[in-house]
Amino acid sequence: MEQTSLLIVGGGPAGLSAALVAGRARLQTVLVDAGEPRNAVTGASHGFLTRDGVHPLELQAIGRAQLEPYRSVTLHRGRVVDAELRPGGVLVRADDGTEWLAERVIFATGQRTRLDLVGIPGIEEVYGRSVFPCPFCDGFEHADLPLAVFAPDAHLATMVRMWSDDVVLFTNGGPGDDAEHRELHERGIRVERSPIVALTHDQGQLLSVALESGAIVERRAGFLGEEHWAPATDLPTKLGVPMGTNPMGMAHYVADPFGKTEVEGVYVIGDLAQVFASVIGAASQGHACAAGIVRELAFG
Ligand SMILES: Cc1cc2nc3c(=O)[nH]c(=O)nc-3n(C[C@H](O)[C@H](O)[C@H](O)COP(=O)(O)OP(=O)(O)OC[C@H]3O[C@@H](n4cnc5c(N)ncnc54)[C@H](O)[C@@H]3O)c2cc1C
Repeated sequence: MEQTSLLIVGGGPAGLSAALVAGRARLQTVLVDAGEPRNAVTGASHGFLTRDGVHPLELQAIGRAQLEPYRSVTLHRGRVVDAELRPGGVLVRADDGTEWLAERVIFATGQRTRLDLVGIPGIEEVYGRSVFPCPFCDGFEHADLPLAVFAPDAHLATMVRMWSDDVVLFTNGGPGDDAEHRELHERGIRVERSPIVALTHDQGQLLSVALESGAIVERRAGFLGEEHWAPATDLPTKLGVPMGTNPMGMAHYVADPFGKTEVEGVYVIGDLAQVFASVIGAASQGHACAAGIVRELAFG
């Protein structure tokens, strides 16, 4: 079993950023990454200062390459499958059997999108190509187009209205809330409650939404609510880290702004702590977390 000061689980923007700051503080660090960023389905990541429009995998490759000069950081490709509290730290095990005893562990594994639970036939073919989770990320490129919002309530549709006057909310059979729907109507947003039977598309480019009612509603792009996201790992639960829900009822692990949890030596950052941190927000949290750990070591 190897020993390390810090082990980071997950090498997305949160984990890579934490590794960079830890490396620059010469902290002995292992970064274990399964290499499947959840935004990899999309062709371009937007809103990261100096990297607007970069492919998510390119961003990850640059992040990894920039860790190379920092000899105290080791990158291990693989998936962490187990973790348990031990005297002196956390025992972490990867899927290839490698084990580390880490004084501190940062979980930065993000969330998983469970498209299989969304219940919209054909969603897999358009997701990331013309249907996205976040209008801040992909609204600009689809501004003023006829847009679909797939969500049970009014929140996302109200936001998306900032990017287009032509927005239809599809509740996919959900009853929704009459008062909310009246408010949407006043904002010029149409609501379709009928269940969705099919999405038609051309190589991932959404063309129309077919409803059980027989209606076919032409759309050119869309946004999908976040109801079917789930933390990509439950190992923090095993270590005793409590979970909470955000104002939209979505599960995340509870940590302070530095990623510190109530379990000594265990930190949670990025989407795993914030549900939707954004790329720059996740990177920022990675920076704050690693800097916080260095401060703890300096003053501890
Ligand atoms: C379709 C889509 C488009 C998006 N577009 C944008 C955009 O344009 N701009 C923007 O700012 N945000 C965008 N986002 C949100 C953004 O991707 C996330 O907020 C951000 O990636 C969160 O970073 P993270 O490091 O917390 O997690 P992630 O980026 O999800 O990285 C987690 C990493 O951990 C690894 N991992 C998971 N489990 C394990 C394990 N057990 N062991 C080892 N490694 C593991 C994964 O393989 C992955 O590499 C988008 C999200 C989606 C789904």
